[in-house]
Amino acid sequence: MTDKIEEKVDLLGMDRAELTEFFASIGEKPFRAGQVMKWIHQFGVSDFEEMTNLSKALREKLSKTALIRTPKIVSEQRSEDGTIKWLLEVDNHNCIEAVFIPEKSRGTLCISSQVGCALECSFCSTGQQGFNRNLENWEIVAQMWVANKALGCKPKEERVISNVVFMGMGEPLLNVTHTFPTARILMDDNAYGLSKRRVTISTAGVVPAIDKIKESLDVSLAISLHAPNNALRDELVPINKKYPLEKLMPSLHRYVEGGHSKKHVTVEYVMLDHVNDRPEHAQQLIELLGDLPCKVNLIPFNPFPNTHYKRSSNNAVHRFQDALMQAGVNCTVRRTRGDDIDAACGQLAGKVKDRTKRTLQTVKLDKLHG
Ligand code: SAH
Repeated sequence: MTDKIEEKVDLLGMDRAELTEFFASIGEKPFRAGQVMKWIHQFGVSDFEEMTNLSKALREKLSKTALIRTPKIVSEQRSEDGTIKWLLEVDNHNCIEAVFIPEKSRGTLCISSQVGCALECSFCSTGQQGFNRNLENWEIVAQMWVANKALGCKPKEERVISNVVFMGMGEPLLNVTHTFPTARILMDDNAYGLSKRRVTISTAGVVPAIDKIKESLDVSLAISLHAPNNALRDELVPINKKYPLEKLMPSLHRYVEGGHSKKHVTVEYVMLDHVNDRPEHAQQLIELLGDLPCKVNLIPFNPFPNTHYKRSSNNAVHRFQDALMQAGVNCTVRRTRGDDIDAACGQLAGKVKDRTKRTLQTVKLDKLHG
């Protein structure tokens, strides 16, 4: 590319408000924002010359001041079950992964929000890799843009990607500056037009940012709970030491209360053999959830190199599910997808140049708040 990227404004990651402001700054009307959003996100266009309903003069002006930056696709792997994983290069040192999971009634794209992850959840392969940086808007949106293009999605046709989950690499709520605008783009009618029920932010439990969602973004929320008591959760999800269950649970209640529509929380619970899958854990979980409007999703553990955890037996998973259901808690078991190409939950590793020197120092979570 001969463009001087630094001097140009990148339009891929701008939400409607930002794009409108950009057009005002170059003396153009607000409706241009909607027009250009459609070209970029619905038609997958990255060259202003192809935006045929803009005048030649405006196209030239845009070419001089702006660009639509897209990442390099390093690889595309297809699983036997139809799952597709893309490895995308976002800078010279780092690659991130996005995964498309087709099902009968929907197609889910799982996207990354950070290069690596700082949270060190003991059962997650991304966490073992270290952390490099937050992804910027364009890098998060680009995952949807690339997937849409690769899957041949066309506007006005039935949506191939019907759901997006922030369950790839990273902790989206430690990067709210960039995940919130990108969630807005996913839901904008001029872009991908997904409903708020179909865009899910998954968090390990960054309590202040859960409250921020309630204030400024109407999306679905999933909480990676994984343990029904603090002692076990401290071990599995170390951010629990900063935001223990007595802080986390009230924040989930605050999220579902009020608002215009009826909300619930998806509770994710990875099933680790003899660690958190015993009948007493199910009982503790039932008590912990109490009357929280929620749906529990049990995730069979996906192994990765050097992990000491094992997947729970099918029996243990079903016994756990039955206990919850009998107590009136809605509970499903997530089907493992794409594990033959290391695309299943917790197996995403991308290529991360670790900057945290994980073995030498503890990451200061306070410094990472986005
Ligand atoms: N940081 C966010 C989003 C990324 S993880 C969060 O914690 O929610 C997405 C989901 O995959 C989480 O529920 C996570 O706990 C789960 N997961 C991580 N490692 C896993 C593994 N090895 N097997 C199964 N699920 C895993």
